[in-house]
Amino acid sequence: DIKIVNEDYFGSYSSFGIHREMISDKVRMDAYRNAILKNPSLLKSAVVMDVGCGTGVLSLFAAQAGASRVIAVEASEKMAAVATQIAKDNGLLRKKDPKNGTRHSNEVVEVVQSMVEDLDKCIHIQPHSVDILLSEWMGYCLLYESMLSSVLFARDQWLKPGGAILPDTATIFAAGFGKGCTSLPFWENVYGLDMSCVGKELVEDAAKIPIVDVVDDHDLVTRAAVLQTFDLMTMTQDEMDFTATVGLEPNLFSTAGNSNDLVSKTTWCYGVVLWFETSFTSRFCKEMPTILSTSPSNPKTHWSQTILTFQEPIAIASEKLSADRSAAVGTDACPASRIHLRISIARASQHRSIDISLETTGV
Ligand code: SAH
Repeated sequence: DIKIVNEDYFGSYSSFGIHREMISDKVRMDAYRNAILKNPSLLKSAVVMDVGCGTGVLSLFAAQAGASRVIAVEASEKMAAVATQIAKDNGLLRKKDPKNGTRHSNEVVEVVQSMVEDLDKCIHIQPHSVDILLSEWMGYCLLYESMLSSVLFARDQWLKPGGAILPDTATIFAAGFGKGCTSLPFWENVYGLDMSCVGKELVEDAAKIPIVDVVDDHDLVTRAAVLQTFDLMTMTQDEMDFTATVGLEPNLFSTAGNSNDLVSKTTWCYGVVLWFETSFTSRFCKEMPTILSTSPSNPKTHWSQTILTFQEPIAIASEKLSADRSAAVGTDACPASRIHLRISIARASQHRSIDISLETTGV
């Protein structure tokens, strides 16, 4: 259990490596860039606030899209200074006292070094005066870092009635995974030697703590189910903590489990993988709605997926057995037709991590 206090948190964003990683994430960048640049009727002449601007990349897109004012808020002192320099070097920084009183129409970006929660102590800003709230706040499993609460705070203070949030919805998904997604296959056969005891130990360890890693969609043995959907326009801070129950149905086309067991048609599910999508829906992005998906079926992102391993694998029927067949093969070979789960995600007290609890419930 690692404590992440604000100082460490903003400190971590002061190193350029993390910004390079985010900027190199093409799926992330394309989604934001399309949402900002390909919805001119939304952006044109708008007052935009970028919550946590980092290098300022999204603010600069907003300026290029024709925003009339972009307030780029960044808590890290280092990054606020860098964002200021970058905006200046690209001719997009709003000059405090423009020479001979004239400003170029695209000199609209104003970088403010502040926690967004303290913004009104740093600049003069009217309540409910922002047309568009823009932010890239998502962490692993969507909610790690809990930065969403800062976006909701900014919404309640500064967004105009009828204003827009980009992105405006977020959804967390879950699906069951098979053996291929665990360490077991690797250690079962090492140049013909059985090292499966290592694989078993690693699976036991994995059951203790979530792992962030890339999952291949061929290793999914159930269909995806929605765990929770958030509407950023209306949700409250409290809704960041939730409990969801889902029934995971076998993925009938999967070859990922042990479904070569032709007698029982049993698939073994070793755990669940979580991922998220955020959307720039047609509510605001009328010309070009866009989805940013971190699904295993899509090109990978720096968020990867979050893997929760069961203590024991669970059998599911990958095909419905006829009554005769299941009687003939006995009850052991008649697994449930879906896996019922209860998953809770909650902000951990005092720091930015999250607590995830996973229970398998009865049929
Ligand atoms: N918008 C940039 C950076 C995203 S990372 C991009 O898309 O590339 C999130 C950034 O938000 C980090 O730089 C972090 O320091 C900043 N941040 C997080 N919480 C904040 C808060 N409450 N107030 C201001 N900045 C914040």
